[in-house]
Amino acid sequence: MAQHFDVIVIGAGGVGSAAAYYLSKAGKKVLLLEQFELNHQNGSSYGYSRVIRYTYDNPIYVDLMRAAYPLWFALQEEAGESLYVKTGGLDFGLPDTDTFRQMKASLDASNLDYEHLDQADIAQRYPQFALDDGMEGLFHADTGLLRASRCVLAHTRLAQARGATVIDHTPVLKVVPSDSGVAVHTEREVFYCDRIILTAGSWAKDLLAAQGIDLPLKIMPCQLGFYQPSRAADFEPGTFPVFFAHMNGPYGEMPYGIPHEDPSIGLKITTFYGWDTVDTPDQVDYTPSPAWTERIRAFAQQYIPAAAGPLISTRRCLYTLTPDKHFVVDQHPNHPQVVIGAGFSGHGFKFTTLMGKMLADLAIEGRTAHDTSLFKLERFQLVAA
Ligand SMILES: Cc1cc2nc3c(=O)[nH]c(=O)nc-3n(C[C@H](O)[C@H](O)[C@H](O)COP(=O)(O)OP(=O)(O)OC[C@H]3O[C@@H](n4cnc5c(N)ncnc54)[C@H](O)[C@@H]3O)c2cc1C
Repeated sequence: MAQHFDVIVIGAGGVGSAAAYYLSKAGKKVLLLEQFELNHQNGSSYGYSRVIRYTYDNPIYVDLMRAAYPLWFALQEEAGESLYVKTGGLDFGLPDTDTFRQMKASLDASNLDYEHLDQADIAQRYPQFALDDGMEGLFHADTGLLRASRCVLAHTRLAQARGATVIDHTPVLKVVPSDSGVAVHTEREVFYCDRIILTAGSWAKDLLAAQGIDLPLKIMPCQLGFYQPSRAADFEPGTFPVFFAHMNGPYGEMPYGIPHEDPSIGLKITTFYGWDTVDTPDQVDYTPSPAWTERIRAFAQQYIPAAAGPLISTRRCLYTLTPDKHFVVDQHPNHPQVVIGAGFSGHGFKFTTLMGKMLADLAIEGRTAHDTSLFKLERFQLVAA
């Protein structure tokens, strides 16, 4: 007998695992399909840490994070493990830098309780930084890190505990919507469901093209490095913040970093964007660039000297970019039973639990209470007739 589910979710990454969790929580019969093993290193969501913050250069995202934080707290409560580690977050730069000005304006417009620090304040609070004259900081206490893989696995585990079926090593080959629902073709069998949620990360483009949607997604194989600071105790949560350096010069676009929880892992430093993009995942070269790791060490030597130690590890990870770097959270205009979560553009992890809930709402009720004004498909004018 062909298996039938209320909802099938494609992709057990950050967003898909969360969608499966909220669907199961709503009592739906759920199937979550993943092409690789759970906790694989080929996509965007797995690894030690991701930044979580309210501090955004757009008040809509600040408001969405006001909905996301409580969901993370509820999830860690139910999972019985701590997934969020509070570190504080410092955005620093010259105050007339565009991104710094935009950030400050957005935090003011959002009435967020941040601190505006001058160079002396920063030197006193975080002597690890060596800032250029005239640099200032925007500090928010609730910024922190999410234990990335543990967040994804917690969503998946709790979905299973509520009856969801999770099958990995099972690539979805084809999705066929019809008046009676959706047929999901895999090598092993065809599964049937009433609704489907497509959260396929960097693999979304091909699956959506087959649905008549040519989404202008680009894949950016970014790189991250973990460095050994000279004194580990000075770079752990509690002594060192998550930071964003508002600059776009020789070190790349907005270097940022996350303190380590385990000295053997090291201080994580990367940059926001600035790598060449490719069109499909099979064009990705996962080989890390030694030139990039040296450029980041030079950044550390200038702005965080004690962090410019030996490289412990480095690897590539995928951003899936939309042209405007806003997400896609919407229903297929011709097939409302096809719900799409895509293009999280290098800043989606902190939203994954909320995006999962919003996609589950769209699949179950056809609407969500949260603001999707930035996330509509129609902004791309791309749907084939
Ligand atoms: C280095 C790096 C640092 C980042 N730092 C931050 C940060 O600090 N804060 C933050 O908020 N965000 C950050 N991000 C962004 C964030 O991690 C992503 O936006 C988010 O993880 C995207 O989740 P996803 O579920 O869409 O994608 P993925 O996690 O890639 O999930 C998609 C899943 O779908 C599966 N799949 C695809 N096609 C199929 C198929 N046909 N059949 C079955 N399965 C399929 C894939 O194997 C994959 O597991 C960072 C990203 C990177 C790469």
